Amino acid sequence: MSEVRVRFAPSPTGKLHIGGARTAIYNWAFARAMGGKFILRIEDTDPERSTQENIDLIIRAMRWLGLDWDEGPEIGGAYGPYLQTKRFDTYKVALEKMKENGSTYPCFCTSEELAQRREAVQKGADPEPDPCRCLAHDEAQARIDAGESHVWRLKVPQDRGIITVHDAIHGDSEFDAALQDDMVLVRSDGSPTYNFAVVCDDVNMKMTHIIRGDDHLSNTPRQVLVYEALGYPTPVFAHLPMICGPDGKKLSKRHGAASVEEYRDMGYLSDALFNYLALLGWAPDGETTIFSRDEMASKFTLERVSKNPSALDYDKLEWLNNQYVQSMGAVAFVDAIKGDLIDAGYCADDADVEAKRDLLEAAYPLVCERVKLMVDAVPMIAYLLADEVELDEKSVQKVLQKEGKGAKTAILEAAAALENCEWKVETIEAALRGLLEKLDAKPRLVFQPIRVAVCGNMVSPPLFESIELLDRSVVLKRLAKAAEVALD
Ligand code: GLU
Repeated sequence: MSEVRVRFAPSPTGKLHIGGARTAIYNWAFARAMGGKFILRIEDTDPERSTQENIDLIIRAMRWLGLDWDEGPEIGGAYGPYLQTKRFDTYKVALEKMKENGSTYPCFCTSEELAQRREAVQKGADPEPDPCRCLAHDEAQARIDAGESHVWRLKVPQDRGIITVHDAIHGDSEFDAALQDDMVLVRSDGSPTYNFAVVCDDVNMKMTHIIRGDDHLSNTPRQVLVYEALGYPTPVFAHLPMICGPDGKKLSKRHGAASVEEYRDMGYLSDALFNYLALLGWAPDGETTIFSRDEMASKFTLERVSKNPSALDYDKLEWLNNQYVQSMGAVAFVDAIKGDLIDAGYCADDADVEAKRDLLEAAYPLVCERVKLMVDAVPMIAYLLADEVELDEKSVQKVLQKEGKGAKTAILEAAAALENCEWKVETIEAALRGLLEKLDAKPRLVFQPIRVAVCGNMVSPPLFESIELLDRSVVLKRLAKAAEVALD
């Protein structure tokens, strides 16, 4: 078999949404698994809605997801250009070929005439073939030469019968050619329509497999007719099942974040989002849920792609993200929160982050199990980064100001115990545990006030480890300050 060549072909009319990202991932994984080529082609023929900014955003989002491609608009390749607007010459060549073999005809009907015919069919009349289909060649040419506005339509062969679309995921689907209208290939301004350009490009770029969302399934019989008109074999089609919202309905804005960047900004890691999107319709086996790009790239097959729509499950995505936070390691963790640390004012700049790196890396094991989204990380470690800590109002009321619970005594005793002890987690823990006997109190009544005083909140990362990471003077200052508001 010839080398596998697949493409991701976004229209730059918006950002990279997660449905498109999943299509890109599957194409990438298929190319890598088959030792083939993955190509990025930009379908920018809609001049009103396509922008360079969107092209840049799509490329950036794909790179952020960890995808790489072998040919594309910014890297070139043997079958370029990779922007459809730069390929108009090739569409002209294809149209000439179709003119010569009689599989296209110029249509001069005005939009009013077309509307009238549509209305008649809606009212029950039998669909009439386009009258321009039977115009004599000379007459048509004379009208073109006279400058009459026209489009070029596909002349669907009347005896074509059933078009069978073979799909690697959905199996065979049959479409009656008699029900396919003579679609426009080239508009009156000379621009190609999607169904024409896509086939010309897929042929000229030597695509072997077309992997895309199944919203394109209904376009496929039309495209098959164009392949046939041009005299080329059809590639293998593989239409991916839809992604729906958690409620099972078609994914839309109302389901929340739509673009890859929005997920990034919400605090999802690239590895986790990649893994999650990969799971929306594919898994390496019946059990594995966590896998790397390389694992997917070595194991991906179209046979294992599900036929059924997959629903977004935000709990699972969050769980998966946390799994990646737990396995990313301290160095990557600090790198990932660098921007947030600077934005929040805890670090002045990159150099300042490096100066505090030891502390930040030491904080990682204390919080990694609790960081679900990366945006939670900085607020969660904020108590380690400044001398002062803000006391959570609710925690103050519930823990420090409940009369008869001994909060003040616990805090003052903790300060005394920590004043001279060796500053290591074991000795800090021993010193504070010693208070349980001395005060004859339950751990909760001793440790919770200390926790609120030092960490600012009754829910916090592990207490003794947190204390060890802070300077003794800072801890003593926080205890003294909390003692002022605490009741006994
Ligand atoms: N440009 C089309 C889209 O963004 C994709 C076409 C295709 O994959 O055939 O939906």
